[in-house]
Amino acid sequence: MIEIDGSVGEGGGQIIRTASALSILTGKPFHIFNIRKGRQNPGLRTQHLKSLLACTELCEAKIENARIGSKDVIFEPGDFIDGYTLNISIETAGSIGLSLQMMTPAIIKSKSKFRVNFEGGAVFGKYAPPLQYIQQVLLPILRKMGYDISIDVIRYGFYPSGGAKVIAIFDPPKSHLKPIEMDTIPSIETIKGVSVATRELRNAKVAERTRMGANGLLEENGFKSEIKTVYCEANNTGCGLVLSAKAFPIVGIGSDGLGSPGLKAEFLGKYTANTIVDYIKKGCPVDPHLSDQLLIFMALAKGTSIIKTPTLTEHAKTNMDIINKFVDCEFVIEEDDNGYIISCNGFTL
Ligand code: ATP
Repeated sequence: MIEIDGSVGEGGGQIIRTASALSILTGKPFHIFNIRKGRQNPGLRTQHLKSLLACTELCEAKIENARIGSKDVIFEPGDFIDGYTLNISIETAGSIGLSLQMMTPAIIKSKSKFRVNFEGGAVFGKYAPPLQYIQQVLLPILRKMGYDISIDVIRYGFYPSGGAKVIAIFDPPKSHLKPIEMDTIPSIETIKGVSVATRELRNAKVAERTRMGANGLLEENGFKSEIKTVYCEANNTGCGLVLSAKAFPIVGIGSDGLGSPGLKAEFLGKYTANTIVDYIKKGCPVDPHLSDQLLIFMALAKGTSIIKTPTLTEHAKTNMDIINKFVDCEFVIEEDDNGYIISCNGFTL
């Protein structure tokens, strides 16, 4: 039984997501204690619990103590069910992006296409990757590694009510994930994006004004941009912007912002654009959020993967430690004048 102290390092929900995905993949059971101990609302929250229960279903696992607020869980994986359709309902604004963070590596085990239907939850949550960030920034890289995933947003959901409807289809690699090499930044061709707002914000032209704020800053910095606007139905009023850099052969830099009452649309656009410009100027091909999200896939790829990112985040450091509890792959970190180069010779299943 692998023992995990959930309060170490970054100490958040990502520890549970990484542990359960790797437990399913390796067949190793784990016991996690002190779950999110240092957080304001410690223990499992809806988003963590729902994803964990979904993981239990996809591999017929035994789980002990899985309930809201639980700080101590035992997870024993069983047999993975290939080509399954999993239904996950999230009654809160729990992030669907974070739920996918748990599912995506685990589903590599499926020998055929796998489908996950989400009812409820947020496409644009708080402190989490919006689904458009996953679609625009993470999925193209996974596709290059041989893992094809499509995400269809049927209905949007925003913090704080959620209420989204989303379908994700996973087509895992037939044999293994291919390694990635992302240690130099290619020349950025354009910044793409989507500015989303709920219908009642149409008269105030919120999606267009957010785009205008972003376009202004991107132009000042010499970047061409292509930002779509979308108006949608949702349970509560909301808006958000996701931007991603596009380059040949590939780059993993994105930024996103969630609107909130009192925050001017133009300002939302401007600061989200400023974040991506800042990342690009740092000269690394992988943004800090993406760095922690890629590590598990690097660890599972056949061969040596390498990424370069401007900061070594607590999320990334903690994730490497958790990965190493399950699989024997060494992460090597080198620092140079503009960032951190992380390489990893993957463990193949
Ligand atoms: P906790 O509430 O305990 O912090 P959590 O389950 O909400 O836990 P974290 O453990 O903090 O989440 O993990 C958040 C994940 O979301 C990380 O992978 C991080 O890189 C990613 N993330 C957070 N904010 C963004 C963002 N704005 N854009 C893209 N990715 C993000």
